[in-house]
Amino acid sequence: MARRKLIAGNWKMNGLRAAVAELDDVLDDAAGAACDLMLCPPATLVPVFASRAAGSPLVIGGQDCHARATGAHTGDIAAEMLADAGAKAVIVGHSERRADHGENDALVREKAEAAWRARLTAVICVGETEAERDAGRALEVVARSLAGSTPDTATAETTVIAYEPVWAIGSGRTPTLDEIAEMHAHIRAALREHLGEIQGIGVRVLYGGSVKPDNAAEILAVRGVDGALVGGASLKARDFLAIAGAV
Ligand code: PGA
Repeated sequence: MARRKLIAGNWKMNGLRAAVAELDDVLDDAAGAACDLMLCPPATLVPVFASRAAGSPLVIGGQDCHARATGAHTGDIAAEMLADAGAKAVIVGHSERRADHGENDALVREKAEAAWRARLTAVICVGETEAERDAGRALEVVARSLAGSTPDTATAETTVIAYEPVWAIGSGRTPTLDEIAEMHAHIRAALREHLGEIQGIGVRVLYGGSVKPDNAAEILAVRGVDGALVGGASLKARDFLAIAGAV
């Protein structure tokens, strides 16, 4: 089965209202893209981005959600609120959330389920640290985190996996193409085992970590890579579109 590639941008804690100019430049080209496109701005910009992107192929997503729909959770945002603001997807389990907010696999799994309840696609992130890779444990660590973070009921429609080696994020360093291929094959095998053949083959697996216009083509051509989750290089429409153009 051919999986359509997805290029997703994660703006992290960047972007004021003036950044709609970048969004508008993305929207100008979105219809011609040979892949699916997603942008995840900070929560403050989700409503304006979603209303501008309405009717275009660009999906707007959040960067995190709480596991509950309502309640006494100061500062948190429910998946239902993101959906109400026009989001169609949400990233869960990004390594910066895991590191900065102590999120573990069990919580990430609950957040993925919360995303589905709100009819959002869950983009579930997993990845090893540099010490884990150096110790030869990358495959084992990622498989365990994937199994812990991904509900067994995940489907190709509701879920995207992002493999993001923690040491490659924002560092300008990437694994070798062989290492990326090896990890994606490993993740695919695990998905087939946990989700069954049909969903296990259908769920898209993105690579993330220092994807830039100049390395996008070679990374996106790696067998088993169904797209990219892009941080820094998604902030400028020109770079984001160049990465999408490398599909
Ligand atoms: P980067 O971030 O592209 O800036 O390395 C990727 C991510 O954290 O999703």
